[in-house]
Amino acid sequence: MLTVDNGIRYLQSTGAKVTATRIAIMKSLENRNDHPSAERIFLELKPDYPTLSIATVYSTAQLLAKGSMLRILSIDEKKVYFDPKMTPHGHFMCKSCKHVFDIPVEFDIASSLTPIEGISSVEYAEIFYYGICSKCA
Ligand SMILES: [Zn+2]
Ligand SMILES: [Zn+2]
Repeated sequence: MLTVDNGIRYLQSTGAKVTATRIAIMKSLENRNDHPSAERIFLELKPDYPTLSIATVYSTAQLLAKGSMLRILSIDEKKVYFDPKMTPHGHFMCKSCKHVFDIPVEFDIASSLTPIEGISSVEYAEIFYYGICSKCA
């Protein structure tokens, strides 16, 4: 689970630098359930961290994803969205407002594939749904 403490410990364990901007990025992602984009995190933190770059947002997110503390959703072809909720769930994206909703998934999508010949184990799977949300309908 992504907490600032866990994140700092993980970054240190990989030998990555723990900077004030990286801590701020982790703090803003912790407990977040609105699936912010990298641009959104960047714009939110930029006023307080003028030296922050969007590349730092991406690289920090990639490190956290490697440590299983963050999901990077490639649900949109133009943007990636971040999700610190690691329990299995799918996502729905409204094609009009681009809002990303959590969708309950009733089965373990990763292990449901393993009876297929040629596949030994599945480590990662995502389910993306696209449509129009009720606000936009
Ligand atoms: Zn919508
Ligand atoms: Zn989610």
